[in-house]
Amino acid sequence: MAAGSSAKCDVVVIGAGVAGLAAARELQARGLDVVVLEARERIGGRVFTRRDRGTPVPIELGAEFIHGSAPELEEIIREASLASVDIGGRRWQVTGEHFRPADDFWERLDRVIRRLNEKRTPDRSFRQFLDSKPGGRKLALDRRLALQFVESFHAADPDRVSERALADGGSPEGDVRERRIGRVLEGYDRVAEWISSPLGDRVRLSAVVTRVRWAPGNVSVESRHPDGRSRPALDATAAVIAVPLGVLQAAAGDPGTIEFDPELRAKRPILAQLAMGSVVRITLRLSERVWAADWFAKQTRTEALDTLSFLHTSDEQFPIWWTAYPLRVPVMVGWHGGPGARELSQLAPEQIEDAAIAALSRQLGIAPRRMRGLVEAAWLHDWEHDPLSRGAYSYQTVGGVDAPAALARPLRGTLFFAGEATDVEGRTGTVHGAIATGRRAAAEVNRSLTTRAAAAKLGGSD
Ligand SMILES: Cc1cc2nc3c(=O)[nH]c(=O)nc-3n(C[C@H](O)[C@H](O)[C@H](O)COP(=O)(O)OP(=O)(O)OC[C@H]3O[C@@H](n4cnc5c(N)ncnc54)[C@H](O)[C@@H]3O)c2cc1C
Repeated sequence: MAAGSSAKCDVVVIGAGVAGLAAARELQARGLDVVVLEARERIGGRVFTRRDRGTPVPIELGAEFIHGSAPELEEIIREASLASVDIGGRRWQVTGEHFRPADDFWERLDRVIRRLNEKRTPDRSFRQFLDSKPGGRKLALDRRLALQFVESFHAADPDRVSERALADGGSPEGDVRERRIGRVLEGYDRVAEWISSPLGDRVRLSAVVTRVRWAPGNVSVESRHPDGRSRPALDATAAVIAVPLGVLQAAAGDPGTIEFDPELRAKRPILAQLAMGSVVRITLRLSERVWAADWFAKQTRTEALDTLSFLHTSDEQFPIWWTAYPLRVPVMVGWHGGPGARELSQLAPEQIEDAAIAALSRQLGIAPRRMRGLVEAAWLHDWEHDPLSRGAYSYQTVGGVDAPAALARPLRGTLFFAGEATDVEGRTGTVHGAIATGRRAAAEVNRSLTTRAAAAKLGGSD
């Protein structure tokens, strides 16, 4: 199909995030010749781990936590001989100068989230749900907590996110296993590396896909080097599209976007029902574990902050902070999700760093100059303006509860879709959800190719 030189394989996978890699690994294991095209110079996509000599833990710029039971990750962690650690310790809330434990975090959240209606017709936004004051005055503070949770954890705009979708996968509710939060001790990128390990040079880095020409049973994928030089086209029987939702939604011609020929008209209304959420996260390495220092214990009149895991604040710019607990290292991560994060990410990285330090100074009650002096290093990545992600992760907007399933649906047994935005089990925006979608897409490809081969055989024997 392609003009000029081209190479051939059975299946081409576009995107070497965990979803694309999981799809490729499964397909290769079934004996298919697979090539993965990845625009970046690294695999992993939104799993992006950095290491620094002076910092005793891996620095996660994208995903950090294992959320809930996550069987796909548990299996990989076991097979790859990695270690995961559950986050213990204590959640705290700070209001003014007053620190208080937030042990009832999940119960308070659940009191609001369980009032969401997964069958509500018509669907409405989370903001409209909150405006109806579920639970009355008694739950006013819990509703504020739930709003912070939806903005932070789901990275969602409360005015747009669907009540029905949140009801379906909004919080772990009473299930203790689903409340579990863990980390991959060696760094999240080890998971992507393990998935990718049997693929070897079948993963082509710095291959920015620009165009997919397709017809039933035939695809031709055009790509370029990041400097604009074109690469040979790749012809295949099927393609797995495992790029982020933001890339599929972007206007043709923008950097990183893919032109489909014929275009994906059937997917257009579905893409409009999903949105990319915004997140700004910053990792700060401090000269000491401030929250556990004697001088800080005196100042706050509590020594119990020694086991601080999460700190909830009402800060406008960085409302949530966490430590690396149970690891006792002087690292804090500041987080802002939702519409405020979109605004914050318009600032230059140094300004975001200043804003984070100012927020921490306010919330910990440490003078700004002293706080600045305590910060040794800072790391962040601008996911909002990264043309290969165009946001942090997806959520369903009002009326879009079925959009992930519709986005996942293959086209003409030829184009298959993977990636966190196509998860149908309420696990969009997670690493394990993304891995599951890659495996699901691989099974679909396999079924389709098997059916096609059987049909060809029948045709041949006529
Ligand atoms: C800041 C942040 C924090 C997060 N925290 C967590 C967390 O704690 N726990 C959790 O479970 N999840 C978390 N997530 C979400 C999680 O990282 C994602 O859900 C998951 O990694 C998505 O994987 P994916 O394979 O679907 O997409 P991606 O990882 O984005 O992979 C898609 C790949 O496609 C490539 N691509 C894009 N365009 C092209 C093109 N034109 N040609 C070729 N390649 C292209 C991209 O470079 C990328 O490598 C977080 C995400 C962010 C951004």
